Amino acid sequence: DRPVVAVIGRPNVGKSTLVNRILGRREAVVEDVPGVTRDRVAYDAEWSGRRFTLVDTGGWEIDASGIHLRVAEQAEVAIELADAVMFVVDATVGATDDDEAVVRLLRRAGKPVVLVANKVDDTRAESDAAMLWSLGLGEPHPVSALHGRGSGDMLDDLLAVL
Ligand code: GDP
Ligand code: MG
Repeated sequence: DRPVVAVIGRPNVGKSTLVNRILGRREAVVEDVPGVTRDRVAYDAEWSGRRFTLVDTGGWEIDASGIHLRVAEQAEVAIELADAVMFVVDATVGATDDDEAVVRLLRRAGKPVVLVANKVDDTRAESDAAMLWSLGLGEPHPVSALHGRGSGDMLDDLLAVL
């Protein structure tokens, strides 16, 4: 019934911070050190009166048997389960090989994607976000999950593809 939106991306790009921003409360665990196992990854979210399930994939960085999952493996599972994807990239770092690997998975899956250029904390960082057009996933949405900047516009565009 309610659509599932997976938040995917490399460790430390700000996925959990973004989830908390969207929920309007602090539930997803934000870690300065990536790769911590968490049980609960699915949350009930709402934007503009639309309800959806938000899946924070950070909890899958290490699976139940203690096996470390590569970024692409994690993303593959999340994409498969999702109706739409928020692909989060750290705009201050730029696109990495892992990001490119996720892009290939997204192309293959053909699910709707909203590209989030996170850590755009001020206008100076907006040129970093624009660099992410190179990923070929359409418009990068400049967001600061930490401060809330840009997240509303990004969510409007997510609802449009959901
Ligand atoms: P995750 O591993 O992708 O879930 O990343 P987290 O949400 O745990 O965040 C990793 C680190 O990045 C934390 O120290 C956050 O405070 C920081 N962070 C997240 N979003 C932003 C942002 O928009 N701007 C800045 N400057 N830091 C951020
Ligand atoms: Mg996380």
